[in-house]
Amino acid sequence: MNIPFVDLKAQYLSIENEIQAAINDVISETAFIKGKYTAKFEDEFAKALNADYCIGVGNGTDAISLSLKAIGITHGDEVITAANSFIASSESITNAGGKVQFADCDKSTYTIDPVKIEEKITPRTKAIVVVHLYGQPADMDAINILAKRYNLKIIEDSAQAHFAEYKTELEGWKKIGTLGDASTFSFFPGKNLGAYGDGGAIITNNPAIEKTARMLANHGRISKYDHEFEGVNSRLDGLQAAILSVKLKYLATWTDKRRKVAAYYSEMLKDIPEITIPYVNEKTKPAWHLYVIQTKNRDGLSQFLNQNGIATGIHYPIALPNLKAYEYLGYKPQDYPVASNLQNKILSLPVFPELTKEQQDFIISKILEFHKKN
Ligand SMILES: *Cc1c(COP(=O)(O)O)cnc(C)c1O
Repeated sequence: MNIPFVDLKAQYLSIENEIQAAINDVISETAFIKGKYTAKFEDEFAKALNADYCIGVGNGTDAISLSLKAIGITHGDEVITAANSFIASSESITNAGGKVQFADCDKSTYTIDPVKIEEKITPRTKAIVVVHLYGQPADMDAINILAKRYNLKIIEDSAQAHFAEYKTELEGWKKIGTLGDASTFSFFPGKNLGAYGDGGAIITNNPAIEKTARMLANHGRISKYDHEFEGVNSRLDGLQAAILSVKLKYLATWTDKRRKVAAYYSEMLKDIPEITIPYVNEKTKPAWHLYVIQTKNRDGLSQFLNQNGIATGIHYPIALPNLKAYEYLGYKPQDYPVASNLQNKILSLPVFPELTKEQQDFIISKILEFHKKN
């Protein structure tokens, strides 16, 4: 049996007619840039997240750097983000003109640790880019308390967390998107809500951030050839928006299916002593962009699964402070012990809505077989 890491073709085939109709509409109306399909999706996505504003942008990386610029990050401002993430979380800080500071993660939730954040705060710290890694919401209540105490802004990197939920102390359960000053999403094809190309969005309830971010993403313009400042060209195009509108209708069902897959893995793998299954904080309902286990013999297990036709991933094999790109900061792996330890043990198993019970049973049986032999 061959099991891919994610099956975009299977998902497309399940909604083929609707997607083709949406694409035809956009082309026949030539609504390619800034047209009605983009506005429609922005509206729908904001509503789905119970937010006031959504700004469609070119990708999830721009969404972060544009949000940082919109909250006023300028040269030399320090911004703290997670030591374990995709490089977009930190790269966008540099792109916005800020200075990257990493904070280590919690060893059970894998999300940024509020205690470690506080250790990194200096008088120059202006913001935190919180990452809801793997679709697991970060500890937002604790992080919001820090933000208040130190007067920091919060950007949520929600690229992996569409429809993840967090139970706030004050307001109960909320979908990820409005727990900070702005929240950023990626619609890269493999994300939980994926376009058929690049795409991203900024979500906010703050009208000033909305206005500035929208202008920044569109050459700083207020009208066609009137520009208040320089921005960039980073827009969600009409074709991607129309495709996303179709897919958004299914996102709740797809998220539910991911949760079922994750629950079944955890049930079936929890008694294997060598494996640590994902820990789920009771204040969260993860979106399960990734299902990540820990095991000492990670490379042996992934090789065995790959030989049996099962694709796996590592997210991510090198913690951000250990990358060559951040050599200039001068960190050693022991400066970020949790993230540095995890990079050698984590393994991502296939998790996507279209994964069948047979496929999942096959994956589980191979993991059990590996541990009987070794
Ligand atoms: C995918 C991803 C991004 C970047 O999104 P793009 O649309 O690829 O630019 C940012 N942060 C995290 C955590 C991601 O997984």
